[in-house]
Amino acid sequence: AKRRDKNRWTLFEASMDQRYSERQGMKAALREAIRTGAMDLFYQPMFNTQGTRIVGAEALSRWIHPELGPVSPAVYIPLAEEMGIISELTRCVIERALQDAANWPGNLQVSVNLSAHDLNDRAIISVIADALDRTDLPPGRLQLEITESGLMNDLKTAREILTELRSMGLSIAIDDFGTGYSSLSYLDMLPLNKVKIDRSFVRDLTKDPKKLKLLRGVVHLARELGLEVVVEGVETEDQLVMISENNCADIIQGYIFGTPMPHGSFIELANKLSSN
Ligand code: C2E
Ligand code: CA
Ligand code: CA
Ligand code: CA
Repeated sequence: AKRRDKNRWTLFEASMDQRYSERQGMKAALREAIRTGAMDLFYQPMFNTQGTRIVGAEALSRWIHPELGPVSPAVYIPLAEEMGIISELTRCVIERALQDAANWPGNLQVSVNLSAHDLNDRAIISVIADALDRTDLPPGRLQLEITESGLMNDLKTAREILTELRSMGLSIAIDDFGTGYSSLSYLDMLPLNKVKIDRSFVRDLTKDPKKLKLLRGVVHLARELGLEVVVEGVETEDQLVMISENNCADIIQGYIFGTPMPHGSFIELANKLSSN
């Protein structure tokens, strides 16, 4: 038995070691992908509540590892944050997204995710100003999505940066709303235009009557503060009906109307659905 235990321990050590080196390898590959512009950008359309008109799209980065294949953003975004290279990714995303959006029909908005570190460094302001200037995109067509976790570190700086960006004409949305623990104070403290309600409010909407009460309450609160409401993660017809009947959304983003897609596919869809 002793011997077996010993072998197990050795095995355990080997796999820890292996996992460590895999992680190091992934870090190196990620750094390389960001530096060389190998990251891809997908767009998920946002719709009016009928799903008949596109009002904009969220830019979502995609990474295909040379050996491992597609890696989830839920894995590499935290890794990039930890490595201190997230702002390089943000810069790439902003530049690409603005170039792409300059070719969209109508005045569709492009929405970009910022991360904690971006909001602690005033450099983001000139990155955005330069990219807007280069693409001649009206500032109102760029929306920034910020998460509550992104605000925790240095709220004062984050607030100053956002106020300046808002005064340039950008739109600011608070993302994953309802998942953090200080959400309510942020609504009042930050220069927001929109609230993106997290999909946890939608998931059991049709099964649990309390979920509808929660959703209605959050939506009411947002509207009282003059904010537009985006509901995320709408997947089924039943969810959509419940949201519409209760007037719980201004904008819908979810698989029911469109998944994240390559830029070419988004343009095609937008040309069909932005004119009517
Ligand atoms: P997020 O900002 O909340 O983005 C929405 C996520 O929900 C996307 O996942 C999208 O594919 C997914 N989603 C959209 N509709 C539905 C639906 O109806 N049902 C379900 N189950 N999921 C839906 P994705 O692309 O895997 O991104 C995950 C997260 O990674 C994002 O969450 C965002 O926080 C982060 N992320 C992605 N790209 C970037 C980026 O370029 N920069 C930063 N800072 N973060 C990013
Ligand atoms: Ca987002
Ligand atoms: Ca210009
Ligand atoms: Ca979200």
